[in-house]
Amino acid sequence: LRILGIETSCDETAASVVLRDEEGRGRILGDVVLSQLEEHSAYGGVVPEIAARAHVEALDALIEEALLRAGVTLRDIDAVAATSGPGLIGGLIVGLMTGKAIARATGKPLYAVNHLEGHALTARLTDGLSFPYLMLLVSGGHTQLILVKGVGEYERWGTTIDDALGEAFDKTAKLLGLPYPGGPAVERAAQAGNAERFDFPRPLVGDARLDFSFSGLKTAVRQAAQSLEPVTDQDIADVCASFQRAISRTLRDRVGRGLKRFWADFASVDQPALVVAGGVAANQTLRRTLQSLCDEHGFRFIAPPLQLCTDNAAMIAWAGAERLAAGLPADGLDAAPRSRWPLDSEAKALIGSGR
Ligand code: ATP
Ligand code: MG
Ligand code: FE
Repeated sequence: LRILGIETSCDETAASVVLRDEEGRGRILGDVVLSQLEEHSAYGGVVPEIAARAHVEALDALIEEALLRAGVTLRDIDAVAATSGPGLIGGLIVGLMTGKAIARATGKPLYAVNHLEGHALTARLTDGLSFPYLMLLVSGGHTQLILVKGVGEYERWGTTIDDALGEAFDKTAKLLGLPYPGGPAVERAAQAGNAERFDFPRPLVGDARLDFSFSGLKTAVRQAAQSLEPVTDQDIADVCASFQRAISRTLRDRVGRGLKRFWADFASVDQPALVVAGGVAANQTLRRTLQSLCDEHGFRFIAPPLQLCTDNAAMIAWAGAERLAAGLPADGLDAAPRSRWPLDSEAKALIGSGR
């Protein structure tokens, strides 16, 4: 199966052609991503209207380029998969309408894909992982721990009750006068810092639920920054290092609880696995924390290549391929974009585990 994927839910315009063979193995044939980082950096965050316009301008050429790199034409494609939510509505409309137009013109089926499902199934494309497994999604817009049971079968075990983790990095950077996006800047500054200097809060540690919270941490960073006027480079480094340490400790507790629950629910799984996804997965401190946590709990830790952790269209094409292969119905040309769309909301309506 060859699937064309389209992704426009946030600030990356992306197109990709992915192959899924009869054994269920995946291969990326062509993959292009255009980041809008420069368009938005002056504003310190993603501006929806600018994002939608940039998607309109770039998408057609990106699709052509992805097909060219894959060495195929639209005639060789078996289905079209386009992100239809969750995300910024303007961008979703651009991508989904383009997907519909291609499906209509070529007579190929359309899959209106949940962006989170793309993240959730990526590890099967990269590592051929089998169900069930756990996924930790940590991006600018999401912080979720998800049980991936099968194609179309997801359970959200935990989510943030306030800020997303990437957002916490971005806001911390802003408070400290570091550039946008904040994650890489905070990580860089932290390298020269003393992680013991500030004892920042670790929200929800010990809580019986599996949820996350990061807004209290941000407030503590603000107070620390204000108490330090004038702030030196060393102060900034120390705040960043201490911030990352607080996050490590929080994740140890929160995710560790999830790993225990997985063991309790799926005692017969040979090799349980935790997959990380989202832009914050670039963070080395976070990776080390999750790796050691997985070692302790007998889990395999899987971190896909970074370009597949952040937003891309290969994961959308792959999700479409998995749906098609699992016999799940394609979507009609009346499929609507949805700015909010929890991954587990449709789980009950679908059949088959698609193993
Ligand atoms: P979503 O995919 O949830 O709709 P998004 O487009 O904001 O949202 P991504 O592009 O996956 O998400 O990730 C961007 C986020 O990752 C930003 O918040 C950024 O600060 C963070 N990030 C990137 N690199 C690092 C890093 N090295 N350490 C920490 N955070 C990072
Ligand atoms: Mg992004
Ligand atoms: Fe994403």
